[in-house]
Amino acid sequence: MNEGIRNTISSMARPMKLERLIRWSGQKNIFPFYHTVSPESLPHVSHLYRVLKPAEFERDLDQLLLMFEPLSLGDYLENSEGKRGKRSMVLTFDDGLKGCYEFIAPLLKKKGIPATFFLNNKFIDNRGLFYRYKASLLIHQVRNDCRSKEKVATFLKISEEQVETSVRMIGWDQRALLEALAVEAELDFAGYLLSRPVYMNSNEVEDILEWGFDIGAHSSDHVDFTRLDASEMNQQVKASVEDLQKRFGVHTAYFSFPFTSDGVPGEVIDSLLEEGTASALLGTAGLKRTGKRSYIQRIPVEKYEMTALETLKAEYLYYLLKMPLGRNRLRQ
Ligand SMILES: [Zn+2]
Repeated sequence: MNEGIRNTISSMARPMKLERLIRWSGQKNIFPFYHTVSPESLPHVSHLYRVLKPAEFERDLDQLLLMFEPLSLGDYLENSEGKRGKRSMVLTFDDGLKGCYEFIAPLLKKKGIPATFFLNNKFIDNRGLFYRYKASLLIHQVRNDCRSKEKVATFLKISEEQVETSVRMIGWDQRALLEALAVEAELDFAGYLLSRPVYMNSNEVEDILEWGFDIGAHSSDHVDFTRLDASEMNQQVKASVEDLQKRFGVHTAYFSFPFTSDGVPGEVIDSLLEEGTASALLGTAGLKRTGKRSYIQRIPVEKYEMTALETLKAEYLYYLLKMPLGRNRLRQ
């Protein structure tokens, strides 16, 4: 949805009652997803999406709890309709960031809300950094240091005004370029990871499992699936899931697609689920039906300057507006 339409729908939805929108849509289960929560700004994230403060996150939770029964992913998968007539929510968190351990899991535990945390295998223990987080760090650096900006601009043969947009546009295929730009900007990614752990370490992952939460796989290093062929997609899901099972002794096989599940063919989804490579697959397309209980599309909550409740209202209204067009079923 483009920004203009999004804003119009959001303001139209604001005075509406969520209960009513849910009733009209017939969609009683929601899957909001987040990445992290932090009281301070996080340079590796803040130029990509909004970082919620713990109090903002808690307010989201309290509002959601008034309307939805929290379910674990496993309960949702097993129990075909939840308690009859009840609205339910399944919370998930992508990328395995430190804030999950420091703020999110403790708060969820206190409130008795189950959740699943999706991890990139190669980033656990801060052994690597997602290239988009590197881009965010680089943007942070050029914003705060004009010498760095100048050097990056010279390196890329562009004007200084174009630096930020160009860094933002660096995709999976060009991710090595970020290393070269970091040298120009005198930015040390490994040093940053050492001084300020971005991800949870293995002990912390074990702790959240002990607290009763689930973990799931999110690919080895946040791979862009649109760059893979069908067999590589299969292999990536399988390796990522099996690695977590081996390392942490979990028996679940949940996988959330990095970025999006757009571009993953229906046959790949079917074979992953039918062959048991994964027992649940999750995307980020918003409120959408997929025709399969174990293939779930989630609602991103950090993308806009809105509370979870406001985001949900906009999602539901958008869903209702598309109903006559029959466009709420995911086309794969
Ligand atoms: Zn992710």
